[in-house]
Amino acid sequence: MRVFHVKHYDVLVVGGGHAGTEAAAVSARMGAATALVTLSSEKIGVMSCNPAIGGLGKGHLVREIDALDGIMAKAADSAGIQFRLLNRGKGPAVQGPRAQADRKLYRRAVQRAILAQNNLVVLEAEVADLMLDRGAIVGVVLADGTEILARAVVLTAGTFLNGIIHIGDVQRAGGRLGDPPSVRLADRLGSLDLGRGRLKTGTPPRLNGKTIDWSRVDMQPGDERPTMFSFLNTSPEARQVSCGITSTNSQTHDIVRENLAKSAMYGGHIDGVGPRYCPSIEDKVVRFADKAEHQVFLEPEGLDDATIYPNGISTSLPEDVQESYVRTIAGLERAEIVQPGYAIEYDYFDPRGLRPSLEVRNAPGLYFAGQINGTTGYEEAAAQGLAAGINAAAASLGREGVNFSRSTSYIGVMLDDLITKGVTEPYRMFTSRAEFRLSLRADNADQRLTNVGVIAGCVGDERRFAFAQKADALAAARQALDGVVLTPHQIASAGVKISQDGVRRTAFQLLAFPGVDRALLGSLCPDFERLPESIKDQTGNDALYAQYMARQSDDVAALQREESHAIFEGFDYHRLNGLSNELKQKLSRFQPVSLAHASRIEGMTPAALMLILSALRRKKPNRSLR
Ligand code: FAD
Repeated sequence: MRVFHVKHYDVLVVGGGHAGTEAAAVSARMGAATALVTLSSEKIGVMSCNPAIGGLGKGHLVREIDALDGIMAKAADSAGIQFRLLNRGKGPAVQGPRAQADRKLYRRAVQRAILAQNNLVVLEAEVADLMLDRGAIVGVVLADGTEILARAVVLTAGTFLNGIIHIGDVQRAGGRLGDPPSVRLADRLGSLDLGRGRLKTGTPPRLNGKTIDWSRVDMQPGDERPTMFSFLNTSPEARQVSCGITSTNSQTHDIVRENLAKSAMYGGHIDGVGPRYCPSIEDKVVRFADKAEHQVFLEPEGLDDATIYPNGISTSLPEDVQESYVRTIAGLERAEIVQPGYAIEYDYFDPRGLRPSLEVRNAPGLYFAGQINGTTGYEEAAAQGLAAGINAAAASLGREGVNFSRSTSYIGVMLDDLITKGVTEPYRMFTSRAEFRLSLRADNADQRLTNVGVIAGCVGDERRFAFAQKADALAAARQALDGVVLTPHQIASAGVKISQDGVRRTAFQLLAFPGVDRALLGSLCPDFERLPESIKDQTGNDALYAQYMARQSDDVAALQREESHAIFEGFDYHRLNGLSNELKQKLSRFQPVSLAHASRIEGMTPAALMLILSALRRKKPNRSLR
């Protein structure tokens, strides 16, 4: 029997994971009457795998989500128990904020944000079917037959669609350990002719921290001055802790190698393709056979939880083998496994069937976001959820959506990569994927995106006011620095090494010079000196990168101009320093005939194309062009 739910929503979001919560929250912030339908409201915001947010490339996405007033950054700040800025020694463009999170605190923070959101209701149910009218989406049908009407539906079912969990040769249906899979919905989607594939991912066994010998492992504390994710936060809320570091050894590798046939991934039980960038211990032993050890980070899952997440040893080996190899690792000789590692295989849909708004091309009103599009990771999912939520809400309210571009956001880079190149293996974000990475920094995400969000109507008053103040202060800093113009002689007299080229420079340009310290700049420009430290730091970053902007634009223009540049037969990619092994293999296999051809290979990055172009320019072909 079918029961009609009287309510008609503007936007209905299916799934309360990382994509679904951002989609539902942003849609409601924009004023759309929104429903979030998920299998269990208790599990909204659950981290299915590692208890950490951010990292290289991923941290940039979290900052962009925050710039648009999303949930993830604030939740990670409130749940963070160890903050580290990765690549601290390198320039700000490639630094990535990361935090170890208390699982329970993170989930609670996300749930608080969802419950506090106006225009948003949460319904606990399984969505089993889609309602279509002449090909366009008009609502969903729940497992009990209830029909709910909606102008737009955002589907974020994660790893649940036809999910199968594997531990050794034991298989069971599941969306993740402890949750049922979503089978009826997967079957229904299968009938829509969207291009369906299978992917897989894995997770390590969880350990009882009380059974670890902590005296035998190194301890790594967080940063002394923690870097927050949200532009609105300045310090962590939770107590901060250290993580342990240990490593595998030849005995560990021997056990894994001897038992490879029992692994679900290597024993032929799984068809799906796994994440290249989060290899299992089986993958590591096979693919990096020359390595004598691999680091294992022992990450606490929470402040009042003894469970430890051993990052680096995900597996689908049988439980008894997991126990044997874990116990070969220093500090883990008596470690008890509280939950076995497992692999999960699930359906995803070819993202080339989507518009840049993440709307399904041949089902208007239906949007896909998150792992269902072939990505991996909480941050990638959340960023897509935000984009789909904005566009679904805008469409249902009759407003302009947001077209995220590659030149202004990592969100734009990811959406463009997905819908143009598609995926054959789980997609994760890296800074190398962006051709404009010098301007797409984590530190300036608000400068790039907050006004976009204000115009779209998804940024609340608190952030709007805070950003307006910051923008005014940055403009004042720039005006003060641009107002001081110095000759090379004056600059040299102030103690800065500079060639006497006769070019006058502003104090803003001087700020990017090595050896120019704040005291010197303060004496030259007192108006700048009076500004808050955070504004001075940010202006310093802006000055540092301003000098490279012209080169970045030249590089991008060169790639566009030289798209048709032929690549001669026999071009040796293995000789290109700086090209990843992944791309060396793919390029050697595909043998693209031109740069444009190479650019369409999945995983190809602008940085890699630039390397190839430079090599082609240096080297005349020694064989005929094709
Ligand atoms: P999820 O977080 O999976 O959320 C899906 C939501 O949809 C859930 O709330 C579920 O209840 C709901 N749902 C599903 N079907 C229905 C339905 N029919 N009706 C109503 N609600 C429904 N990422 C990494 O970056 N690195 C890793 O190493 C890694 N390993 C992983 C290992 C495992 C075992 C798993 C399960 C995941 C792993 N991930 C990893 C992936 C990471 O968890 C996901 O990328 C992320 O959670 C995806 O977010 P999402 O919002 O798309 O989906």
